[in-house]
Amino acid sequence: MRKYHLLTPGPTQVPPQVLEAMARPLIHHRTKEFETILGRVREGLSWLFQVEDDVISLAASGTGGMEAAVANLLSPGGTALAVRGGRFGERWAEICMSFGVRADVFRVEEGRSADPAELEGHLKERDYKALFVQASETSTGAKHDIKAISEMTRNVSPGTLVVVDAITALGVYDVRPEEWGLDAVLTGSQKALMLPPGLAFIWLSERAWAAAEESNNARYYFDLRMERKNQKKFTTAWTPAISLIYGLDVALDMMRAEGLGEIFARHARLAEGVRSAVNALGLELFAKDLLSESVTAVEVPAGIEGAAIPREMAKGHGVTIAGGQGALKGKIFRIGHLGYVDESDMLIAVGALEAVLAVLGYRLKEGAGLLAAKEVFAG
Ligand SMILES: *Cc1c(COP(=O)(O)O)cnc(C)c1O
Repeated sequence: MRKYHLLTPGPTQVPPQVLEAMARPLIHHRTKEFETILGRVREGLSWLFQVEDDVISLAASGTGGMEAAVANLLSPGGTALAVRGGRFGERWAEICMSFGVRADVFRVEEGRSADPAELEGHLKERDYKALFVQASETSTGAKHDIKAISEMTRNVSPGTLVVVDAITALGVYDVRPEEWGLDAVLTGSQKALMLPPGLAFIWLSERAWAAAEESNNARYYFDLRMERKNQKKFTTAWTPAISLIYGLDVALDMMRAEGLGEIFARHARLAEGVRSAVNALGLELFAKDLLSESVTAVEVPAGIEGAAIPREMAKGHGVTIAGGQGALKGKIFRIGHLGYVDESDMLIAVGALEAVLAVLGYRLKEGAGLLAAKEVFAG
């Protein structure tokens, strides 16, 4: 027998309580019972997003939430600026293009965080309808300073909507949509929310709702105006992912029992433990400026075949981590530490990493990573 340890930055582990809830027999969604559950879930989502109201749930993976943002806030021929610090930043530009929106790209070297002052120069060049950015660029392990970027945007281009992909940020560290003046914030179910993939969540500011009214983009399934009208009445426009909503109800309960402050503190602690282990093993962190608390990207040391690290960790230890995507394939590996994970999970990952590195011929002091992580966890 070998146990399976899923430690990627999405999908993430699903708690047994959530799995059990999702195994319940289906009820019909046009009923009082389902409305009660959706009402509770809506309240929980407002709490998690730290907003007044109206987080919209969609039956889609996270990318569906990104597409909904573009489809509802812009019109064909419109212009947007997309921050591209990795694979997911690139996705913003691709979605814009497919909707006939001109997306200029603000390039950030992979592993770096966007410099708000530099971004300011680009924002001034044109009257952009929207700025698209990741809070946490999962492909590199870097964060962008959303609060500073939003403040800067409000100053230099008050009409530009700030649209944030917070898919590996929300429920990991503090993001405050209303307080920071953001216009759209979205996430997906299979990251910090401890669920299988299949749900996307999006919140819009009143300005953004006004933009959704003005937009003349073609949209049907992802028409957020229609969803808002329905979800205010605790129902959905189309058949919801009923079982996932059951699971979400339980996951939100678990998160509320832990508390937002403790959730953020736990993720910060796990991230620090992993980074400390990486340093102790003489490895290099890939992100250089602001490091995400949801995932740690590590440079593959010279002389080691990049893909071998995740492969051997899975084969020999049942530990599934992620490799690099796109141009970073073989150059980095990524350990996810978001969602239903704790200190013991991190020790499993670090232990397996040490063992695999030793077998692959990397010279290390075995146990140094574990010791460093344990020191962090001991406080
Ligand atoms: C996971 C992820 C996505 C969404 O991907 P899906 O596969 O569509 O769920 C988008 N952005 C970021 C930053 C992510 O981490």
